Amino acid sequence: MTSSHSADRPGFVLPAKKALGQHFLHERHYIDRIVHAVDPKPGDTLVEIGPGQGAITFPLLRRHGALTAIEFDRDLIAPLTAAAQEIGTLTIVHRDVLSVDFTELAAGRKLRLVGNLPYNLSSPILFHALDHAAAIADMHFMLQKEVVDRMAAGPGSKVYGRLSVMLQAYCDIVPLFVVPPGAFSPPPKVDSAVVRMIPKDPARITVRAPERLATVVRAAFGQRRKTLRNALSTVCDVAAIEAAGIRPDMRAEQVDVADFITLANQLHAAQVEQP
Ligand code: SAM
Repeated sequence: MTSSHSADRPGFVLPAKKALGQHFLHERHYIDRIVHAVDPKPGDTLVEIGPGQGAITFPLLRRHGALTAIEFDRDLIAPLTAAAQEIGTLTIVHRDVLSVDFTELAAGRKLRLVGNLPYNLSSPILFHALDHAAAIADMHFMLQKEVVDRMAAGPGSKVYGRLSVMLQAYCDIVPLFVVPPGAFSPPPKVDSAVVRMIPKDPARITVRAPERLATVVRAAFGQRRKTLRNALSTVCDVAAIEAAGIRPDMRAEQVDVADFITLANQLHAAQVEQP
């Protein structure tokens, strides 16, 4: 395995900014594995979140010819633009990714999102992407391994929680591989992992009331040691829990995603039916 130095080095190196969660990937091996996982096909619309110094950007651009990159750090815009000139068409959106309307950016096509995400913003970025799931074909993100574990966890796992239920209700989650701290400069304190997220086809999404699901799941896991009878007391009564086929003496971490969705759908339907 070789480290850092490759033909794809952007030709500029700036000090990393902690406040922007900058940990630049430099291990060739992991960069290649990300590009291989994304495997861009002709006609794909690739969008990278946080290109940084171009570790993933330039290999993808070399392979695909065109890429849109969303970067918040103004100091990176000119060097990225200059370094991309010889390689392909790099369109840089100089914005906070949370303010980018992915549906508008997609303009009727489906985006393939890629990013070694700033870890301090990973959950907001995931939920922002979910808001635009219909405009997204798939996502390949580098995140803290602990976050990927939570995203993919199932009932019975200690790390199964709000993130697991809310993401799995809308996406298939596939953890791909772990990346050690030494692959980045500066190294983060924890292991990272790359995850693939594929938004479900609308026909497979059974959620009828997204806000209601969010409320139920937040309450259930807000007090995860309590039984649902108690944890959900402000949200619904015991009869409603039983009507959804869930035992009220269970704790949230024992309830699978489909059952949370059933409960939220039934609460929503009951409210709609009320005179
Ligand atoms: N992709 C590069 C790599 O793998 O070496 C950089 C990854 S670094 C972990 C995260 C990147 O996201 C940085 O370039 C940082 O400036 C950028 N970033 C941080 N906050 C952002 C935001 N709110 N919107 C867009 N980009 C952001």
